[in-house]
Amino acid sequence: MFRIGIGHDTHRLVESRPLVLGGVVIPFDRGSDGHSDGDALTHAIADAILGALCEGDLGLHFPDTDAQWKDVNSMELLGRVVWLAHERGFEIANVDCNVMLERPKLREHIEAMRENLAKALNVEIACVSVKAKTGERLDAVGRSEAVTAQAIVLLTQG
Ligand code: MG
Repeated sequence: MFRIGIGHDTHRLVESRPLVLGGVVIPFDRGSDGHSDGDALTHAIADAILGALCEGDLGLHFPDTDAQWKDVNSMELLGRVVWLAHERGFEIANVDCNVMLERPKLREHIEAMRENLAKALNVEIACVSVKAKTGERLDAVGRSEAVTAQAIVLLTQG
């Protein structure tokens, strides 16, 4: 039995915040605003898994009104969502993602992101795809005002 899920996340880019994507801190003069560490890529993947499970979304499980999740490492949130999938009898088959960020270029960080995500998802790195796109200097991503991520995930009954 298969389940498929889709995830999407956007964070505003602001000064004095780290830019974290897939658990990797990317050197940049701006970072993601947010209650947690603002890791849009990890949030999109976690939402995709919750979607595949028909278990609501990240905001439902980890409300930003709860101080417990303030500045939390989003890889920990992803780990909890993966645990929930396992509890429901599912394994992650593969994940495919897009990260939309105007700059800096992400290419040199992609492998580290895939490694972190594969560990949290309990899969081989070959099952985790992360693609980097820009906003072509259009819209909020293109003006470096935001980072956006999309994810799609396939679950199989373990
Ligand atoms: Mg988010």
